Amino acid sequence: MTSSVVFKSFTALRHSSIEHPKLIHPHTTPNTLFPYRRFRITASKSSPKLQNRNLRVAVIGGGPAGGAAAETLAKGGIETYIIERKMDNCKPCGGAIPLCMVGEFDLPLDIIDRRVTKMKMISPSNVAVDIGKTLKPHEYIGMVRREVLDAYLRERASENGAKVINGLFLKMDIPTRGNENIKTPYVLHYTEYDGKKGGTGEKKTLEVDAVIGADGANSRVAKSIDAGDYEYAIAFQERIKIPNDKMVYYEDLAEMYVGDDVSPDFYGWVFPKCDHVAVGTGTVTHKGDIKKFQAATRNRARDKILGGKIIRVEAHPIPEHPRPRRVLGRVALVGDAAGYVTKCSGEGIYFAAKSGRMCAEAIVEGSENGKKMVDESDLRKYLEKWDKTYWPTYKVLDVLQKVFYRSNPAREAFVEMCADEYVQKMTFDSYLYKKVAPGNPLEDLKLAVNTIGSLVRASALRREMEKLSV
Ligand SMILES: Cc1cc2nc3c(=O)[nH]c(=O)nc-3n(C[C@H](O)[C@H](O)[C@H](O)COP(=O)(O)OP(=O)(O)OC[C@H]3O[C@@H](n4cnc5c(N)ncnc54)[C@H](O)[C@@H]3O)c2cc1C
Repeated sequence: MTSSVVFKSFTALRHSSIEHPKLIHPHTTPNTLFPYRRFRITASKSSPKLQNRNLRVAVIGGGPAGGAAAETLAKGGIETYIIERKMDNCKPCGGAIPLCMVGEFDLPLDIIDRRVTKMKMISPSNVAVDIGKTLKPHEYIGMVRREVLDAYLRERASENGAKVINGLFLKMDIPTRGNENIKTPYVLHYTEYDGKKGGTGEKKTLEVDAVIGADGANSRVAKSIDAGDYEYAIAFQERIKIPNDKMVYYEDLAEMYVGDDVSPDFYGWVFPKCDHVAVGTGTVTHKGDIKKFQAATRNRARDKILGGKIIRVEAHPIPEHPRPRRVLGRVALVGDAAGYVTKCSGEGIYFAAKSGRMCAEAIVEGSENGKKMVDESDLRKYLEKWDKTYWPTYKVLDVLQKVFYRSNPAREAFVEMCADEYVQKMTFDSYLYKKVAPGNPLEDLKLAVNTIGSLVRASALRREMEKLSV
């Protein structure tokens, strides 16, 4: 009931220039962020037909969001450009993807390094619970290397007609609002590289009718449209090559560690890759201590990764919630640039690809396959669909994180709860298929009672521990 009320007011607010007034960074206010007035969106009925050319759209960033967006645009008859600064970019990432992404994005199985069917959830006191018992024989979590997945999606966009530019997007000239009606183009400024090592590149410009910002957490497109900040986690990861006999253990198994030692507000992970494991952790609240948390994660897994050699160290921000603004004029943000990572799980690959595709579909539809100019109301259709489809998922994971990641006793309760097969089934179904699985009323009731029991035990335990520490 409460969530439906919240959801209604949330959707009602989307029609202003600031989509998430409640989610604006705590230290800013809508007025200081966006000093200009709010405006109403007018319908696109009068968008002119294009003469002798198709709609031109640039996608900035060639990660999963950009690759998926560019493919959909190109297939839909749009003159598509994709600007990616680093063609062999190896995005710091655990690389875990849900099963539905493989089907929905028609991913070939040979780009998936591992199929994880077993997951160990490990509590602060090192109680390990096996989850994955409820998986059907064909179900798994895919583990990919991002350099492989991203290159594949970009390549497919190119095969469908997108022009891939190896370049660094610098800034864009935005048509002034007064000129909106005559559809002045956006002028993108970028440095194009010719692939030669050490080359400084050549400064170029490109005129387009619309822009999709898929340039990740540090998005320059977001800055160009004053999209506002979001709170973020810093995630740290080491790729560790472990001896072959140790790798056998991780063949189809991943681990998640929870506890104050590995992170005050997130989890530590060991995810298997083709010939190594990725060990990492993240935090929003104690970013300065990230290396300490990483050392603790490595320490918790020490027996299983003994003799391992660190082959790569990487870190990157993970957005915590959507930006206050995700669409302005004919510019839309998708993926991490928009802020679409779920709390609790830190998952963003599927949501990036999905939002890229959804935004591109709205442009293809609004432009009648590239024949007509689009305007802001066309781009906003993507936001409406996105929020309606995924807002509840984000909210549920937000609540779960607040309840279960707040203290070690609560985390012990969380791991205890994960032993329940019903919990496992619901969790895996929701993760693998990105649909909230229909529950069984009796099992839901049992789960509620058990959860409350676990939390009461956790609170009691915490009170006892607080007494001990006085
Ligand atoms: C350590 C870590 C572990 C993670 N683990 C997982 C996981 O296991 N599963 C999961 O689902 N999610 C995970 N995530 C989140 C996931 O990585 C992101 O949500 C996802 O990469 C978002 O995709 P994107 O396409 O929006 O952005 P990105 O993947 O960041 O892609 C942006 C692209 O834009 C390019 N770019 C940026 N700026 C410019 C510019 N100015 N000009 C041209 N190109 C530019 C970049 O080179 C990059 O290729 C993890 C994140 C981190 C940091």
